Amino acid sequence: MAKTDTRDARATIDQIKGLEECGCQLVRVAVPDREAAAALPAIRKGIAIPLIADIHFDHRLALLALEAGVDGLRINPGNIRDPEHIARIVRAAREREVPIRVGVNAGSLPPSKSTVKTVTERMVDAAMEEIELLERLDFDLIKVALKAFDVPITIAANRAIATRMPYPIHLGITEAGTPRKGVIRSAVGIGILLHEGIGDTLRVSLSGDPREEVVAGYEILKSLDLSRRGPVLVSCPSCGRTEVDLVALAIAVEERLATMEKPIKVAVMGCVVNGPGEARDADVGIACGRGRGIIFRKGEQVRTVEEADFLQALMAEIERL
Ligand code: SF4
Repeated sequence: MAKTDTRDARATIDQIKGLEECGCQLVRVAVPDREAAAALPAIRKGIAIPLIADIHFDHRLALLALEAGVDGLRINPGNIRDPEHIARIVRAAREREVPIRVGVNAGSLPPSKSTVKTVTERMVDAAMEEIELLERLDFDLIKVALKAFDVPITIAANRAIATRMPYPIHLGITEAGTPRKGVIRSAVGIGILLHEGIGDTLRVSLSGDPREEVVAGYEILKSLDLSRRGPVLVSCPSCGRTEVDLVALAIAVEERLATMEKPIKVAVMGCVVNGPGEARDADVGIACGRGRGIIFRKGEQVRTVEEADFLQALMAEIERL
């Protein structure tokens, strides 16, 4: 999701361009008022990926967003309650064949008649009520998201909704926190669901640079072999056997690989215990010893280099691939 003021089309386009470079495949922008809606045509024109308008409270903003040519809408069942307002949005979305995401958030659930239902049950109920309303309006371009900060609640809610409706599911742990902790929380929640075959799109929500959200999303996908975009770095944590500055080397290699799109596996290993095996298994790897390292490419030992040349030699082999 873009984090700029949507009313500032130039800043929003620039930020989305940065996200596209990281591999972002679709982007959502907040549309809090008419001025933000008025900026949508310029934003749509200025970017290459589908644009989703995030609408709360005012159905007229959804209608303006559709007129502006957005590729998708996100509405929150807790915030647009009037069925006639939903009907108007649906009519306009159907005319343009624009999908609607029913985005349920644990923090903004619609009021419940039940006093005994859990948050998970209320999230599923809210999503199902909205889905059934859309279906009654003969609309099926639906996508569903059930997000909470609480990981077990998010997992339970998504497992439940996946058994009750046929539509694509967007995954996320909402308000997951700052990058250091939010990435872990997101990886646990999103990763468990993806591993169970649940989820079609995802967003990592971090209090930080949105490009980090995209990078984290790809790392989750790559951890589960669901994406081959960009390099995978295998690096050992180092230990008492390490006789080189392994951590500095791993960080330097990671920085160099950050902008690369080649789907390669690179190994940076600190000793002869696991080093040669991992390095041989990677597309390019280094197994370090005392002040020297053996470079492997595609399973073959290609040369031995001095510690001062580790980074340069490794990157040269990567470039040769
Ligand atoms: Fe230690 Fe070697 Fe394992 Fe690295 S690969 S953690 S240096 S034993």
